[in-house]
Amino acid sequence: MDRYTPLDRLPGIGQVRAKKLEKLGLATLGDVLGHYPQRYEDRRERYTVAQAPVGTPCCVCAMIAQPPTATHIRKGLDLVKARAVDDTGVLELTFFNQSYLKTALEPGQSYVFFGKVDAMGRRRSMTNPVFEREGVGHITGCILPIYPLTTGITNNLLSGIARKAVESCAQDVQEILPAAMRGEHHLCQVEFALRSIHFPADWESLELARRRLIFEELFVLTCGMALLKGRRTGERGRVFSAALEEFTALLPFTPTSAQRRAMEDMAADFAAGRVMNRLVQGDVGSGKTVVAAFGGWMAAKSGCQCAMMAPTELLAEQHARTLSELLAPAGVRVGLLTGSVKSAARKHLLSALAGGEIDLVVGTHALFSQGVEYADLGLVIADEQHRFGVAQRAALAAKSGRAPHVLVMSATPIPRTLALIIYGDLDVSVIDELPPGRSPVDTFVIGEDKRQRMYGFVRKQVREGRQVYIVCPSVEESEPGEHEDGCADLKAVTTYAGELAEQVFPDLRVGFVHGKMKAGDKSAAMTAFARGELDVLVSTTVIEVGVDVPNASLMVVENAERFGLSQLHQLRGRVGRGKHKSYCVLVSATKGETAKERLRTMCATNDGFRIAEEDLRLRGPGDFFGKRQHGLPQLKVADFAADVELLKQAKGAAEKLIGEDPRLEQPAHAPLKRRIMEMFEETPEIFN
Ligand code: ADP
Ligand code: MG
Repeated sequence: MDRYTPLDRLPGIGQVRAKKLEKLGLATLGDVLGHYPQRYEDRRERYTVAQAPVGTPCCVCAMIAQPPTATHIRKGLDLVKARAVDDTGVLELTFFNQSYLKTALEPGQSYVFFGKVDAMGRRRSMTNPVFEREGVGHITGCILPIYPLTTGITNNLLSGIARKAVESCAQDVQEILPAAMRGEHHLCQVEFALRSIHFPADWESLELARRRLIFEELFVLTCGMALLKGRRTGERGRVFSAALEEFTALLPFTPTSAQRRAMEDMAADFAAGRVMNRLVQGDVGSGKTVVAAFGGWMAAKSGCQCAMMAPTELLAEQHARTLSELLAPAGVRVGLLTGSVKSAARKHLLSALAGGEIDLVVGTHALFSQGVEYADLGLVIADEQHRFGVAQRAALAAKSGRAPHVLVMSATPIPRTLALIIYGDLDVSVIDELPPGRSPVDTFVIGEDKRQRMYGFVRKQVREGRQVYIVCPSVEESEPGEHEDGCADLKAVTTYAGELAEQVFPDLRVGFVHGKMKAGDKSAAMTAFARGELDVLVSTTVIEVGVDVPNASLMVVENAERFGLSQLHQLRGRVGRGKHKSYCVLVSATKGETAKERLRTMCATNDGFRIAEEDLRLRGPGDFFGKRQHGLPQLKVADFAADVELLKQAKGAAEKLIGEDPRLEQPAHAPLKRRIMEMFEETPEIFN
């Protein structure tokens, strides 16, 4: 038996059980070796009958005193009763519907029973205990692993298989962490780790095992990211050169020093003859678009094309407008390509792209769909694109021909350590400064009782010439097919907008926009709002990221408790983008304490990083990422939020190793290389 042995070859496992195990992703012994327990139960302490604590599960060792008796009570109810004894007393055992135990329990044989002890005066009893012969020590007298299960697979069965897996394959697993590294970071050997994660002798061994396996997982992950980074920066890239001052002269404002620094970083990348892989990170409203525009302008100046990808059509259209206003005077030809650019217009655009008659194309994923060809793509920009993950970046790098420069722009305020990993293959420029004249957005939480006052405030803002967003919850736009309550929400926006327009604000210009609208209607509403032809825009979260209308000064969020903190922060980022004092009103009737605490956080700070950290603390990592995928491989033991210290150590160790052997070509590193490939199986480009 080895790690490749299929589970249906094991005694007691037929086709049916094998199928069920497959549901857990378990097909071979090796899979089971990597299927770690969820938690453990301490069954080490063993008691005499008299000393056994009453009411809590424990182990009692006793001898079966006489042949068990079986009684058939009625259909579906059979009892087996047995008496077990030790020097201190008698333990009465009752088993329901396990008639086979009548012969399985041998008189004169000692067993260890694990179960809850009940007491009636001096009598002691257990109902349905698990048991094994004294001396076996598989399910009693040990720390028992409790595995993630599925119906039809018991923990006993799975821990039995795990025991076989540990016994037959743990010693063959190759050690991928060099001895020196283990010494430096106090890590145990792999065989001990695998044995102990399944069957720890004590809690200390378990801790050692966990620490080692977490480190290993993070190490393999960060090695993969470092390889990816090395692989791309090693590549020769196009050289763009032009003077930054010539670009800033095009701007209607002076760039902040943080924006200038980001642009200088990029200019240095472009001049170096390597492929740029850069992340520009800056909170909402910090002015990232200008930095992107600089990239597009540099590419155009050097006779190359630039493709800029946005997460929504709305945002793509807005960027196309902004960039065209800014760059057309400098001779840059800007185009727009989204799913709703159809037929003739699309054909025209595609041929212009292929013919090099467009310098900067803005769009959605459509930019990289089949049939889109570029004359000479020199720069790819991804704006607020969480889906533009490791795999996509790697794929771009592996594109035939000369790899384009890559610029990723993100406001996603993820905790910094996490960013180090998720964007571990990128160089980072941080825009840590807002354009001048911005004051923090004042934020309030109100209940239904203040609704009329809130409407009054909307009116006041409009009277002063400002514009207002009112956002209602909706299901994620990006996930069609999961809209269970999508229809209700949809109606909510349209009916609510109708009500507002007719009853509350008959004298104001009210428009609405939601994800299910036809693209044309959507952009008509957005454009009207951007031009100041609407006073109030009622919307779902389609406006969550990127939308930029500096005259808007009030953001009202209905049912605010239904949004994540980071999402609220993004929404709030739609106001306070100009010189006007701005406000955010969160309407919520929630009574939940956590929900209230979250909303209070919004009032307390405007700092995206603090909000992200608070979000992570309140929701835990699983929820924090939720549908917002981070594009990293799935981890088994490590937890990005909890294992920050090990993460730093593992990252350091990975960088050191990759520094010594940049492509992991030394024979000693072959097992590590294989492990990385297994982890990054969706990113094979990593070793191209
Ligand atoms: P984000 O980082 O959220 O993408 P944007 O690029 O949309 O931010 O910029 C937000 C607003 O700030 C826009 O209206 C933009 O024109 C304006 N802006 C950007 N940089 C500056 C600056 N240096 N001075 C003044 N306004 C600026
Ligand atoms: Mg933006």
